[in-house]
Amino acid sequence: MADFDEQPLRVERFELLASVSAVAAASLDPDVAVQNVAQAVVPAFCDWCVVDLALEGGELGIVATAHRDPGRQPLISELRTAYPPSADPDELHPIHRVIRDGRSVLDRISDDDLQARASDARHLELLRGVGIGSHVVAPLVARGAIIGALSFVRAPDRAPFDDADLLTGEDVARRAAVSIDNATLYRAAQEAARTSDEFMAIASHELRTPLAVVQGHWDLLQRMLARATAGDDAFEPERFQRSLDRLGSGISQLRRLTDELLDVSRLRHTPLAVAVESVDLGQLVRVAVADSPAASRVELAVSDAPLQGNWDPDRLRQVVDNLLANAAKYAPDGSPIEVSLASVGRVARLTVTDHGIGVPDDDREAIFTPFGRAHNAAAGRYPGLGLGLSVSREIVVQMGGRIWVESGGEGAGSTFSVELPTNEPSPED
Ligand code: ADP
Repeated sequence: MADFDEQPLRVERFELLASVSAVAAASLDPDVAVQNVAQAVVPAFCDWCVVDLALEGGELGIVATAHRDPGRQPLISELRTAYPPSADPDELHPIHRVIRDGRSVLDRISDDDLQARASDARHLELLRGVGIGSHVVAPLVARGAIIGALSFVRAPDRAPFDDADLLTGEDVARRAAVSIDNATLYRAAQEAARTSDEFMAIASHELRTPLAVVQGHWDLLQRMLARATAGDDAFEPERFQRSLDRLGSGISQLRRLTDELLDVSRLRHTPLAVAVESVDLGQLVRVAVADSPAASRVELAVSDAPLQGNWDPDRLRQVVDNLLANAAKYAPDGSPIEVSLASVGRVARLTVTDHGIGVPDDDREAIFTPFGRAHNAAAGRYPGLGLGLSVSREIVVQMGGRIWVESGGEGAGSTFSVELPTNEPSPED
């Protein structure tokens, strides 16, 4: 390669950095931004280049490669797939070292080095094929964290990298890291906005159903009252009461939905607050069942022994109401719901069993996470936000207990169980 005096070298470096900054900022897609950077440095600065991001567990994820001879690009892929950079501490590959230490490296590499590094004949063939005479590996640092490494490689027939090139490589890596970080933040912000749009759409849809019930019965009651007052119709207390009941259950549903939404949005920032006092769980469950719209379907088995514990009664009531409402919603109208409460050692165990759609194996954990709905419920005709059980789990865990579901699978019904520590003395106490 021709000798440069200092002036043209500075101009070249300036031009390279300017073009890297321009292409890196040209896209808000992190994958495109990083591929643009790789292409901008080849062949002006190196013969080929690889951008690695540091993944969890010390893994590397190649996000971009470029070779001055596009025909040799597949060799880079094969090299990295078949012979990934060694993470073994005794022969740590420079990429791993740079990611670990955050310091860039410059190495000259001879054919003897390649022979020493190759683990078999194909490996050596690939190392020679891509062309390795010297390399600069620089860390990608964004907001103080090492997010990956940029490797620039020159073939043996080109002047090897020197100390000035090392600085240039570091500068390119700095600019690339900033643009990868910006694009990643932008993508995360967009995803958050989309999730919140989806959430608003689902939430308003869910609120609209009980709202329509409330509106309909409100109108009906007004009309019945007006006609009875005008003497057009006889006052029919039973019809009136029926509409009032429907109105009441619509309002309860609205209240439950808005409470769940509030709980979930609060839980994103602070753990749920529970106000504990001495509670008789048997009494609480009996009242919850009596108040439930599905009361007539419930077969209740509560042990006679008082089940006393230090719990938050309002929050516990929320859990029981949610389990009863779900048992009624996800099972055929009129089918029985079995509720049992018993003490098992020093814990109280509440179970709610229904004979409905069941919970598929794969969804048993997900339904306890915010917005988690089983596929047989989400796809079907069951309204819901997927919030009640996640709030219930939070409540139960805050009180030192656990909640889980057992089901024979789709269509085989479900049993939801809650266990809570009681005040009962243990046999040894
Ligand atoms: P929602 O019922 O509003 O979707 P939940 O958090 O109470 O919210 O329940 C989460 C999911 O768990 C439901 O969407 C449904 O898939 C599943 N699920 C809850 N209870 C039952 C039940 N008794 N039978 C079958 N599936 C249930």
